[in-house]
Amino acid sequence: MTPSDDGLFSALMQRGVSRRTFVKFCAAMAGALALPATYAPRIAAAIGSAPRIPIIWLRGQGCGGDGDALLRAASPTVSELLLDLVSVDYSETMMAAAGAAADLALTETMATYSDRYFAVVEGAVPLADDGVFGLTGGRVFRDVVREVCDGALATIAAGSCACDGGLAGAAGGRTGAVGVGAVVGTDRLVNLPGCPVNAANLTATVVHYLTFNELPPRDVRGRPLFAYGGLVHNQCERRSHFEYGEFVLAWGDEAAQKGWCLYKMGCKGPETFANCPTIRYGEGASWPVKAGHGCIGCTMPAFWDTMSPFYQRLPSPLPFAPDLTVDQVGGAAFAGVAALTAAHGAASYVRQRVLGHRTRRGDQQQPVPGPGSAPPPAEATPPEAPEPAEATPPEAPEPTEATPPEAPEPTEATPPEVLVPTEATQPEAHEPPESEPSRAPGPAEPPVDAPSPEPDPFAPEPG
Ligand code: SF4
Repeated sequence: MTPSDDGLFSALMQRGVSRRTFVKFCAAMAGALALPATYAPRIAAAIGSAPRIPIIWLRGQGCGGDGDALLRAASPTVSELLLDLVSVDYSETMMAAAGAAADLALTETMATYSDRYFAVVEGAVPLADDGVFGLTGGRVFRDVVREVCDGALATIAAGSCACDGGLAGAAGGRTGAVGVGAVVGTDRLVNLPGCPVNAANLTATVVHYLTFNELPPRDVRGRPLFAYGGLVHNQCERRSHFEYGEFVLAWGDEAAQKGWCLYKMGCKGPETFANCPTIRYGEGASWPVKAGHGCIGCTMPAFWDTMSPFYQRLPSPLPFAPDLTVDQVGGAAFAGVAALTAAHGAASYVRQRVLGHRTRRGDQQQPVPGPGSAPPPAEATPPEAPEPAEATPPEAPEPTEATPPEAPEPTEATPPEVLVPTEATQPEAHEPPESEPSRAPGPAEPPVDAPSPEPDPFAPEPG
């Protein structure tokens, strides 16, 4: 069948796919994109009216498993939708043409659909020795990738080799293999790691563009969040066995037959981001853990180096407590930090209250310094520094107490002068005048030059 420019749905009808099957596919795509089921009609409308979008599929340094995964998709067919509806115009491994005819198909597609085709790259890009380890039609694969991807509306790196070099780029590799992003940049690049890529995620990426006219949101590694936004461990059907400490300890043992957790057999699910448990492979038939094999973390960067040995369990965060999980250790550490923070806050509050109380009490008991008096004790100063606002009120009343001496009445200012003459007249008090012999000794007579004729209140009492 030749894809029709009338729209993908009419091409699908010509293929014999029923409307029911088409709607079912759209609902599955909504699930793959982590969208509510209510998006299914919108996806159906978008796909049904979408124009033909060609795909140019390049294959670099890899095993070819990603293209094979696409072709092995079951019916009704994600691969048919891609091959017959979206249309792969160029693929060395899928097309019938070869040699010059294949090259002609490539150049014609690029010229006719400039900036309107998807470039899908499978396999790594070898750069060592000026790229001689990868040649296509006599040209260095690196240059072909640059040329094709520069003219595409978007590039999809299908599989781990295309994302970061994969096996060819692992330690010991001689070809200098890198991912597509190292050659063409990451602005319009979607990385779909996996060994192999999941065909459903590839289809969902294209469907997302057809529906929303933009590429799906991606993480810092260029991976779509709908497919790589969650841990395998959190979606795994064996997770309950992990929580109950029910582990497979040997291949084929009773625990393995019961479907218990594969963590101790080397499963890397707790450190791997992918939607394998929910999207699965083979049109949702199964995935490695369901089949009895642990996750090897193939969607993670440089997984051949970072996730191997594949049959050794992940290192325990606490070597002396190997049964504790990362989540348990992290939770305990968080609780400990929270408790210490609360204790520190309470101690700081009590300390400030005590110091504030001492400061206020010290200010109230501290005598008003007079001329020649000793300076205030040194320990009274520190409380005033941290609490200037609290230290101020006790100082306010002092001017009020000091005010009376500053506004003295003339009589109050004279006491020193009164005392001097009192001492001078004291003999006169003991020697009353002869004209008043019967008079009892009274207060001393004020001196003639006393400022006030009033009796001195500070004079000594008679007798
Ligand atoms: S089998 Fe792997 S992914 Fe599944 S619960 Fe166990 S450790 Fe996690």
